[in-house]
Amino acid sequence: MTETELGRLIVLAAPSGAGKTTLVHELLSREPELEFSISYTTRSPRQNETNGEDYFFVGKNEFDQMRDHGNFLEYAEVFDNWYGTSEEYVQSRIDAGYSILLEIDWQGAQQIRKRRPDALTVFIMPPSCEELERRLRGRQTDTEEVIQRRLRGALSDMGHWHEFDFVVINENLDQAAAQLAAIVNGRGKVNRTEVPELKSRVEEILVGED
Ligand code: 5GP
Repeated sequence: MTETELGRLIVLAAPSGAGKTTLVHELLSREPELEFSISYTTRSPRQNETNGEDYFFVGKNEFDQMRDHGNFLEYAEVFDNWYGTSEEYVQSRIDAGYSILLEIDWQGAQQIRKRRPDALTVFIMPPSCEELERRLRGRQTDTEEVIQRRLRGALSDMGHWHEFDFVVINENLDQAAAQLAAIVNGRGKVNRTEVPELKSRVEEILVGED
C-alpha cells in the first residue's frame, strides 16, 4: 500500500454461535495492516472483557449523547443493549491508510451500506444449524431461556445473508480465516454472495434447520 492510498472499510456480521470472535482474532493476526474498530456499548462487561479493548463500555445517557451529536457511523439495539461505531475513529484510520474491521450486526451493516457503498460486507455462516446450536450450548453460563432466545435470534439474523457482498462458511477456522484474508485483499471471488455453488450451500444450511 502506498502512503497516499486510503484504507478500506470491512464489515463482518454473523449470528451468535458462528464462531466470529475466534475468526476475527485469527484474521487480525494474519493481517497486520487491518485494525479492529472498538465499538461503544451500553452492555455490561463480561468477566474477561476490558474497557477500551473489547468495547468502550458507556452508560445509556452517554451513548444517547454521542448518538445525538452524530458521533456514530452506525448504531443499533441488539438483545436489549445499544452498540455503535465511532465515525471519527474509523475515518481517521482510513485516512491514515489502514483498513478497518467492523464486527457489527446486520442492522449496522445495512446503515454502512447506505452511507459507505464502497465498504466490503461479509456474512459469516455456521456450517450447519446443529453446529450453531451446539456452539451456543457450549457456553455453559447461559440458561435454557437465554440459549433459546439466542438461537431464535441467530436464525433470524441468518435470513440477512444475501444482503452482504461475501459469505464465508466457518466450518474450519484455518480455511475460513484464509478466505477472509483473501476478501480483505481484494481476492475473494469464490466467496461472493452471488456464486451459485455458495448460494446452494447456504440454502442447504438454512433448510437443514426445519
Ligand atoms: P456481544 O454483546 O455478544 O459482544 O455482541 C452482540 C452483537 O452486537 C453481535 O452481533 C455484535 O456483532 C454486535 N455489535 C457489536 N458491536 C456493534 C456495533 O458497534 N454496532 C452494531 N450495529 N452491532 C454491534
